[in-house]
Amino acid sequence: MPTDSYKEAIAGLQKLLSEKKELEFVAASKIKQLTADLAAAAGKEEFDPVERLKSGFGRFKTQKFEKNPDLFGELANGQSPKFLVFACSDSRVCPSHVLDFQPGDAFVVRNIANMVPPYDQKLYSGVGAAIEYAVLHLKVENIVVIGHSCCGGIKGLMSIPDDGSTNSDFIENWVKICLPAKARVKAEYDGIDFAEQCTNCEKEAVNVSLGNLLTYPFVRDGVIKKTLSIKGAHYDFIKCSFETWNLDFGISTSQRF
Ligand SMILES: [Zn+2]
Repeated sequence: MPTDSYKEAIAGLQKLLSEKKELEFVAASKIKQLTADLAAAAGKEEFDPVERLKSGFGRFKTQKFEKNPDLFGELANGQSPKFLVFACSDSRVCPSHVLDFQPGDAFVVRNIANMVPPYDQKLYSGVGAAIEYAVLHLKVENIVVIGHSCCGGIKGLMSIPDDGSTNSDFIENWVKICLPAKARVKAEYDGIDFAEQCTNCEKEAVNVSLGNLLTYPFVRDGVIKKTLSIKGAHYDFIKCSFETWNLDFGISTSQRF
């Protein structure tokens, strides 16, 4: 049963671990010692994830939280972000860093290749819930879908064979949301090199997502009433440039900065 599947997974792991407990313990100790020896030989300290989280949070607390009591006091009472942002999960493109968003500025959805799937209550309830909450409850005024340079998800989409066959459990089926972008790029940019096709697809995929946003009735209503604007964007982390354009039903007005 799906509701119990996490319990089964935990029970399965516990069984496996108890069966191999002795072996695991010996192997884990050996690996730990080897890693420490290698790190020492290279003159580096071993990476400690808990220590990294602790020191990162400590810096946030002293440099941001404690220095901005008004902001964080206000945020304790609620949030009213101006933006709903779709960004890729890629560790290099965090929108809060790139756009200097402060806590409370943006409601953010991150996924592989920053895709907005079409309205589907069963297949894509996670994304649908985020859009519904941001639009109907937080009343965001802007939705921005941000693509980026060297996107692995888009490269994956562009690499799906023409017969549509896939080798992954989730990734390729997810990025197939933007198959229309791939088809357009293959038709319009046939013959140019693959990397350039991918760059074009990064932007075309954003346009498919902007179109998909309109399949959500509450988004469509907001756009018609002009309480909601929808924008596409592309962040190039090699050139460090940021381009943005409006959903303009065919008339392009892009800005680069
Ligand atoms: Zn990406």
